[in-house]
Amino acid sequence: MILDLTREVKVIRPEAKSVFPYSNSLFIDDDVRLMIDAGAGGRAYEPIDPESIDILLVTHNHFDHVNGISFFTNAQIKVGKEEALGYSSPEAYSAWAGFRHWEKLMGRTKVERFYQTVTMPEDVPVKPGFQDVKISGVLNNNDVFDVGKTKIYALHTPGHSHGHYAFYLEKEGILFSGDLDLSPRGPWYAGEFSNFDDLVQSVEKIIEIDPRILVTSHRRVFDRDKDDIVKLLQDFIGIALEKEEKIYDLLTEPRTIEDIAKHNIMGDISSKSAYAQFWDKMMIMKHLQRLEKHKRITRIDEDYYVQA
Ligand SMILES: [Zn+2]
Repeated sequence: MILDLTREVKVIRPEAKSVFPYSNSLFIDDDVRLMIDAGAGGRAYEPIDPESIDILLVTHNHFDHVNGISFFTNAQIKVGKEEALGYSSPEAYSAWAGFRHWEKLMGRTKVERFYQTVTMPEDVPVKPGFQDVKISGVLNNNDVFDVGKTKIYALHTPGHSHGHYAFYLEKEGILFSGDLDLSPRGPWYAGEFSNFDDLVQSVEKIIEIDPRILVTSHRRVFDRDKDDIVKLLQDFIGIALEKEEKIYDLLTEPRTIEDIAKHNIMGDISSKSAYAQFWDKMMIMKHLQRLEKHKRITRIDEDYYVQA
């Protein structure tokens, strides 16, 4: 589905819900045709002829944002410089995913591959996992793409992943925030190089810009005239901070990550797939590191944490 924001700026929404394995794209239909992200699914891109796209900008290397890259056969592809190596090196991709922690957090060797645990709709052309992509350049903070009437600014917004970029159309007041997505479940920061403090700073950067229109990867379009975008962004961070306080409250006695996970602070863990459980534990680990850094908790031995 195509949603016109202005004459040139359009949101490409997936035919199904814009949740994994799909995400929204932002399409700039200008002298140079530019697309942001490639996860809306083959059917959604059909009406705009993906082969006619000149530039494809990628917010970050998560499957639901990159699975349709092969549709854009003639586009120059630009990705965040911080995670560019993960598009050509399977080793870099796997290190970036954080699976070196699997054995410790899950208590067993990792045997399953993520792609074996999910089935893909037919308009998603690849399976999750490493994808060899020929990129034509990298994104740096404040890079500008002048495509005719529209200027697009790249904003390095790390936290969700360390090479995550948002895109701002200053004249139009439109900001595409990628996976700083205002999900009611709160932010995701479970990758090896995900960082919650960075994520907070990235959200603050968006609040400072105070966009008129906020387009996220997985939700509807937010409009400052109707939605309190600043409060929505603050609440989004607040959800994670609340989880952190719950973790802290549990540490009146020494506990391990495993003990904390059983309290379902990140959601009902028993109903989740092995991967979702792993990501919950990665996020608990990140909160523990943060609480430790702020000297609110200490580690008593390798595995136990307690209030300082
Ligand atoms: Zn993501």
